Amino acid sequence: MPCLGSGAVTGLWGVRPRWRTDVLGEFFCPGCGGDRNYRRQHGRRWLRLFGTPILPLGGVVRSVQCTSCRGRHSTESLEQLTSGRLGAMLRDAQYTIALAALAAGGTGSRSGREVACAVIKEAGFDDCGEAQVLASLAALSGHSGGDPLDVDVEGGGLAVELHAALEPLAPHLLLQGRERLLTLGALVALADGRYLPQERAALAVVGRCLDLGTAQVDRLLEAATRAPR
Ligand SMILES: [Zn+2]
Repeated sequence: MPCLGSGAVTGLWGVRPRWRTDVLGEFFCPGCGGDRNYRRQHGRRWLRLFGTPILPLGGVVRSVQCTSCRGRHSTESLEQLTSGRLGAMLRDAQYTIALAALAAGGTGSRSGREVACAVIKEAGFDDCGEAQVLASLAALSGHSGGDPLDVDVEGGGLAVELHAALEPLAPHLLLQGRERLLTLGALVALADGRYLPQERAALAVVGRCLDLGTAQVDRLLEAATRAPR
C-alpha cells in the first residue's frame, strides 16, 4: 500500500508531515478496494523529536487519506470513479441509448417500444413503462406535448443527451463494455425490422460518443442483426 509522506522516524529524530484537511468526500480507495470516505489533506514536513514537531521543513505535500483503511494515496486517486457513480452513469447511458434508438426509428412500432423498455428496465429502471418512455421523448423533443417522432437525433436534444451521458463514461469502460452499450442500441433499432438510415445515424452518434471507430461500429451493427432476439 502506498504510504505517501509518512517519512522516516528513527528513534529520536524523524521527519513527518503535519496534516490539515481541506476537503472531505467519497472516492474509490485503491488500498481497500471500495467506495470509501476520504479526507484530502495538505501538510508541511516537520522535523520531529520524539514525534513532536520542532522545525518546519520545506515542501508542501498533498494527499488523500481513506478514513476506513487509513491508507494515503496521491490526489490522482480521486480521478477514478466510485462504484456507485460508475453504476449510475452506466444506467443513464443505457437509458439514453435506448431512447435515442427508439426515437430514431419512430415510436409507432410496438416491438420497438417493448425492446426499448426492456433495455431500460435491464439498466435498473425497474418501473419504467412505455408511458414514461414516451413522456421522456416528448420532453426531449423540445416542445412537450408535441410528437415524439419529431426528435432529431443528429442535431436535437437526444444528441446533446447522448454526448452528456456517454462521453464522460467512455474512458472508464473497457472496449467490451462500450461495445455492449452500442449493441443494446442496435437491438432496439432492429426490433421493428432492418436498420433505417436515421437509426444508423443515431447509432453512429452513439459509437462516436463511446470512442468506437466507424469500422468497429459497422461490424457491431452487422453482428447485432445475427444476434438471437
Ligand atoms: Zn481504504
